[in-house]
Amino acid sequence: MDNVEGEDDRTNDLIMATENLTQHCACGTAFDANHAMVCKKGGFVCIRHDEVGNLTAKMLQEICHDVTIEPALLPLDDEHFTHRTANTSNDARVDVSARSFWARGQTAFFDIRIFDPMAACHRELSLEAAHKRNEQEKSRNYQERIQHVDHGRFTPLVFTTSGGMGPEAVRLYSRLAEVLSGKKRQPQSSVMAWMRCRLSFSLVRSALLCLRGTRSSALRPVSLAGMDYEATVVESRIDQRLQ
Ligand SMILES: [Zn+2]
Repeated sequence: MDNVEGEDDRTNDLIMATENLTQHCACGTAFDANHAMVCKKGGFVCIRHDEVGNLTAKMLQEICHDVTIEPALLPLDDEHFTHRTANTSNDARVDVSARSFWARGQTAFFDIRIFDPMAACHRELSLEAAHKRNEQEKSRNYQERIQHVDHGRFTPLVFTTSGGMGPEAVRLYSRLAEVLSGKKRQPQSSVMAWMRCRLSFSLVRSALLCLRGTRSSALRPVSLAGMDYEATVVESRIDQRLQ
């Protein structure tokens, strides 16, 4: 499976969507497509991250018991880890967990990272190398702890802002598609294509929200003159079926 398939097209689409954008961000930095993907003002980066986590949890619920969003890891008892960047907080959480996904009775833990391949820190790397680096960073944060303390298995789920998937994420969704296709009696290729499309659509829609969404940190009186209806509905999680 080609991980970078369509990546250039998606990136070009996003660059085209940056036309007529503001030059200055509400956080005080110059605004461009790269900044829009990482700026935390307005909460769009969190919405993008949560949307992928919730969608993955929903898919896992179709085939696993005990799917949990933001499960807490077991507290530490003076354990030490090889990597300096290992998360040693007693409040540590990952994004999703599911029991009996990779192996019967074992809990699988997943943590999501969405990175911008056009960001300065990734520009010198190939897309494959950037995926690898992000997966390694996540694994150093959690893998050893989850393996030795929680007795589970950790998988980093790395995506690009334009919808590409890292090799570990491809492995997860392929396995998910395999089991789901057996359960639903549907072709595995169709299930995988639907998953890729759904995840990709979700990421691209979120990227557009990061680009176009109105950034503000405090509640202000509603002014309909400059209202961004779409961004507000998504940010407030209003059910769009209510009309
Ligand atoms: Zn900003």
